[in-house]
Amino acid sequence: MRQRKEAPMNKFWSETVKRTKPYVPGEQLNDPNIIKLNTNENPYGPSPQVSEAIHSEMKRTLHLYPAPDADELCNEISRYYHVSKDTIFIGNGSDEILAFSFMAFFEPHNQICFPAITYSFYPVYAKLFNIPYDEIALNRDFTIPAEDFFGAEGGVVIANPNSPTGLYLDVAVIEDIVMNNPENVVIIDEAYIDFAPDSAVSLVTKYPNLLVVRTMSKSRSLAGLRVGFAIGDPGLIEGLKRIKDSFNSYTVDRLAIAGSSAAIRDEDYFQETIQKIINTRERLIPEMKKRGFHVLPSQANFIFVSHYKISAESLYQRLKQQGILVRHFDKPDIEHYLRITVGSDEQMKHFLEVLDNVILHIKESAVKN
Ligand code: PMP
Repeated sequence: MRQRKEAPMNKFWSETVKRTKPYVPGEQLNDPNIIKLNTNENPYGPSPQVSEAIHSEMKRTLHLYPAPDADELCNEISRYYHVSKDTIFIGNGSDEILAFSFMAFFEPHNQICFPAITYSFYPVYAKLFNIPYDEIALNRDFTIPAEDFFGAEGGVVIANPNSPTGLYLDVAVIEDIVMNNPENVVIIDEAYIDFAPDSAVSLVTKYPNLLVVRTMSKSRSLAGLRVGFAIGDPGLIEGLKRIKDSFNSYTVDRLAIAGSSAAIRDEDYFQETIQKIINTRERLIPEMKKRGFHVLPSQANFIFVSHYKISAESLYQRLKQQGILVRHFDKPDIEHYLRITVGSDEQMKHFLEVLDNVILHIKESAVKN
């Protein structure tokens, strides 16, 4: 796993900088021959209407600041999800919205909680904003023990489906968690929900403490454009806007607003590509099992797997040598697992061929030794 080199402390750093432990994103290699299955990008690219919208915007209005609240995109989201505009917040990727949410809703004297195995940006934000946190242990099968999140001291953050496990919590269970935290904000990070059965957006009008955070990076294939949105009670949305407008009024640029709005309008393309990825995932799971992997029942655009005999670290290294990048987390509870993005059928066919060779090679060298 790529590590950011620890820089020596600088005497001009603030206490905030000193206590941060920055997130390490998955490798982005610029070699076009590499098959990237490490950051859950979408192999199909965005709707063709996205680039048309961006080109047209570029020709006309780049000299003007964008609308601070990204009105065009807000209108599309409002129409698509049947929610009012005052329940929508737009951000520069959902990472930014998560960061703003930690600042807007959590306090340095109140411990928040999130699963011990989850998106590794949550502890980074908590450290940055000096918010104490409790990492709730998962069950042995990596499922989230919902009741352990009831009555949290200072707030709850849950990714659903969770990453890197891909496991999905039913909306009824999410509702239980929200209901049992009436004094806290519960953030449900739905980065991968379009690959899963059901969203918690339907609960937003019922619970003033629920914030659902979404991204356009995965299902809409716009990771490079940096657009995310949140849906929640108008009071929460106003809190987020107060943070944004005390920081940078124009976090989402004109091209991003035009492109992401076009992506939402192209429903046919969206449905078609989502379904292709789900179908590929369902074909990939038995193929992995056949090859001796334990595979968690993913409802996301990635699978989380562990081989019964071969270490995840050596599989990761050897796949990388063969031009295939997957994600290995060097953390005690999950060091035996790999997270593999579901790419196109063609990519996964190539992946399986390379994997077969790698496994054969490892077995042969084990026999020799
Ligand atoms: N939440 C989760 C669970 C993720 O995996 C990611 C992607 N790394 C994000 C949020 C952030 O996505 P983005 O900033 O691209 O919207």
